[in-house]
Amino acid sequence: MPEAPKPPFRAEAVVALGGTGLEMERVSYARQVHGADVARAPAGGGFAGLVDILVTAERGVPLAIFTADCLAIVLYDPSARALGVAHVGWRGTVRGATQKAVRALGEVGGRAGSLRVAIAPSIGPCCYEVDEPVTAEFARAFGERWRSWVTPSRGGRVMLDLWSANEALLAEAGVAPASIENPRLCTACHPDLLYSYRRGNRGRLATLAALP
Ligand SMILES: [Zn+2]
Repeated sequence: MPEAPKPPFRAEAVVALGGTGLEMERVSYARQVHGADVARAPAGGGFAGLVDILVTAERGVPLAIFTADCLAIVLYDPSARALGVAHVGWRGTVRGATQKAVRALGEVGGRAGSLRVAIAPSIGPCCYEVDEPVTAEFARAFGERWRSWVTPSRGGRVMLDLWSANEALLAEAGVAPASIENPRLCTACHPDLLYSYRRGNRGRLATLAALP
């Protein structure tokens, strides 16, 4: 059996995370594959498999998602003590990862209506130009509805608003819109602060959350 990959934290992330109080030796992470599969984090932390959604009901196990323009979505039910994280780019969006993440919280005791959701810094509609192969997938997954998530750009291309799309999909899955927090901080607009694959600023942002 191949050895499980190590969590891809760079030295500077280890230093920054060392001060957060998170139990980093228990961190759970996945090999993210732009899909919509779910894994329950191992109770002691560690590698969870080839998935893009991690859930836990275990206190103190930090769940980690790594991104560089894609959305990292954190879902937390404070009354049930259920936590999930999801990696959602355009492929994950059309594959239903967002709705799947909400449902997966149900498997660890959460309820969609009690969830608090946060969307980490990711590429905004200001900087995310896409064309036909992507829009065709959106049309296939969502019918005409995808048109409300884009604005026209040059040469028949469009600017895609993954934030609005995923906020709409979360609401449709039963999350109260007022419980969705999104700072709308674009990775490509802030090379001083954030990594962005599209900007060629190719580190990875780590999003971590643990149940208290
Ligand atoms: Zn931007």
